[in-house]
Amino acid sequence: MTSDTSKPTIAILGYGSQGRAHALNLRDSGFDVRVGLRPGGPTSIKAAADGFAVQTPAEAAAGADIVAVLTPDMVQPQLYREVIAPAMREGACLLFAHGFNVHYGQIEPRADLDVVLVAPKGPGALVRREYEIGRGVPAVYAVHQDTSGRAEQLALTYCAGIGGARQNAIRTTFKEETETDLFGEQAVLCGGATKLVQAGWETLVEAGYQPEVAYYECLHELKLIVDLLYEGGITRMHEFISETAQYGDLTRGPYVIDDHARAQMKKILTEIQDGTFARQWIAEYAAGNGNYKALKQADLEHPIEEVGKRLRGAMKWLEQPAPQPAAAPA
Ligand code: NAD
Ligand code: MG
Ligand code: MG
Ligand code: MG
Ligand code: MG
Repeated sequence: MTSDTSKPTIAILGYGSQGRAHALNLRDSGFDVRVGLRPGGPTSIKAAADGFAVQTPAEAAAGADIVAVLTPDMVQPQLYREVIAPAMREGACLLFAHGFNVHYGQIEPRADLDVVLVAPKGPGALVRREYEIGRGVPAVYAVHQDTSGRAEQLALTYCAGIGGARQNAIRTTFKEETETDLFGEQAVLCGGATKLVQAGWETLVEAGYQPEVAYYECLHELKLIVDLLYEGGITRMHEFISETAQYGDLTRGPYVIDDHARAQMKKILTEIQDGTFARQWIAEYAAGNGNYKALKQADLEHPIEEVGKRLRGAMKWLEQPAPQPAAAPA
């Protein structure tokens, strides 16, 4: 046991989108951070270049008070069984950034461990960038198992260390985080948004409009609208768009998100709640991801991507992160 419970030693397993951001933020917050990666693996060079002493996942897990499992969800069950469970010290804390494997019974943690969730509601690059400018990406946290009596405190300490508690950190459950996260990315943020963009673009192009004009209208401008939603909700958007746009929004939006679309959203949610989606994804991964890879390739080869690549080539600034305010807002 470590004597200083306010600064636990933390092992970060995986150095991808979330792993890198968590490791850098926690180190900058004063924690002793060890990164556990497969020797010679694709991201171990990156972690070493960032100044971390890279250990094997087993070494990192053995020496830590908190072990954060930030590898892809589908590799976590085997990693837990073969490496993490045998290595972790008695009474240590196992931490996830998504509740999938615990909620769907793919990982059944050792009974002596604390088991918590700290899930930033944003991609890793933003978790790092917001931290660097003194802000934070909102996070939710949960406790699945509390053997030490201080599991919630450990989750909150970690949450603060990555900058997630600078926002309103909300307590949730593994079930709620898993089901809402999957629903959000499937129906709205990723699946819903990209299919909306592609279908809108195809509708204009099939009707004979220029693909470049359709790209600006259906993809590029979406950021400007989302920025307004992010800053001030739908109220803010209405303040900035024209009356004509507002009238079109209010009367035509429901043509697209009609009763059928709402019924499909309910179907998505039901398949998440009853485990259909999880079983399908686990089986797909076990079978070598053939269907997943084919679907992804079709997305990458969609003609909007070719048009976008050309147009973005003329907007070099898009490759840089947006300029940040000199001082963080109070
Ligand atoms: P990622 O795919 O970006 O990175 C995975 C890392 O794990 C890489 O460093 C990879 O080399 C390493 N890795 C892969 N297999 C490994 C193995 N067998 N042993 C050790 N290391 C291995 O992953 P990610 O998108 O950051 O996701 C990590 C977790 O965070 C997941 O639980 C995910 O659901 C959750 N999450 C992700 C995001 C996001 O924006 N990407 C947001 C919230 C939560
Ligand atoms: Mg999410
Ligand atoms: Mg997710
Ligand atoms: Mg317009
Ligand atoms: Mg207009």
